[in-house]
Amino acid sequence: QSPLGSFLTGIKPRATFIQLAGHKGDFVSGQGGVIYKKSSQLEKAALEELMSDTLKHSVPLYFKPVMLRDEDNNPVEYLELQDLLCLFDDPSVMDVKMGVRTFQEVEVSKTKRRMDLLGKMVKLDPDEPSEEEKRVGITKARYMIFRERLSSTNTLGLRVEAIKRCGEKPRNDFQKVKDEDEVRKLLELYMPEDPALRRIVLRGILDKMTLLREKLTESAFFKYHELIGSSLLFIYDSTGAVGIWMIDFGKTSKTDSPLKHDVRWTMGTREDGYLIGFDNLARMLRSLSGA
Ligand code: ATP
Ligand code: MG
Ligand code: MG
Repeated sequence: QSPLGSFLTGIKPRATFIQLAGHKGDFVSGQGGVIYKKSSQLEKAALEELMSDTLKHSVPLYFKPVMLRDEDNNPVEYLELQDLLCLFDDPSVMDVKMGVRTFQEVEVSKTKRRMDLLGKMVKLDPDEPSEEEKRVGITKARYMIFRERLSSTNTLGLRVEAIKRCGEKPRNDFQKVKDEDEVRKLLELYMPEDPALRRIVLRGILDKMTLLREKLTESAFFKYHELIGSSLLFIYDSTGAVGIWMIDFGKTSKTDSPLKHDVRWTMGTREDGYLIGFDNLARMLRSLSGA
């Protein structure tokens, strides 16, 4: 329950909204199938453009910006979005963060060598820094890339952020899940146990992945946007209803030249490796037993 909820006069928070990731205060649940997410320039611009793109129905519908008041009565802009969970009955939800990196180029453009980041690196793995790095420190880029090699982000182009199975609490302690086998186990964990339901859900997920893959290739938005830290949100329920949506455009930005999305990133290319992750995810889902 968001701390801002009680400040919305006339809007009763719905009990059913489940937030798997992100800062708690950034979301407010609304009535009539909408939620409010704290606005940012990048996400607002992306959602506006998405509403007239071929990907419109692969993302939560974006209705309008609204001003809400925070605890100190200051106006704060939120984005009114379709609550995707509304379409389901006690849903099981999985958030998969896409791409081979989750930081923007500007976040790591500084070439300054830092001893504090060296310290953090040594704490995680004392054998990682070279002798030279131990003397002069490491750049932010070096640290961030090292961090992402601890999870499957760097190698597979995706990482499972969180899973909530129906009737259970959300889990998000997967930061060090790196190998394909471990990722596959998490996908398995998300699936229903009942064999009949499992077949229906898996079939539904694979069909939706194929459709979404086609839409991504057709999308003008996708061609000219770098998607960083964006997720695929998987939802199913016991009726066998299934949905996959692209969410979280807080670090998604427009590019001047088209991106390939299926090549690895080097500084300056702005490539995100989104399709590397997408194709790996589709392949791993196909390999689950019963598929
Ligand atoms: P972060 O950047 O840390 O990933 P964030 O604050 O940008 O988080 P999101 O990733 O957009 O937030 O959303 C966080 C969680 O809220 C998602 O994992 C999902 O569980 C839920 N969520 C987000 N948007 C919707 C939506 N439109 N409908 C239903 N649930 C949503
Ligand atoms: Mg997110
Ligand atoms: Mg985000």
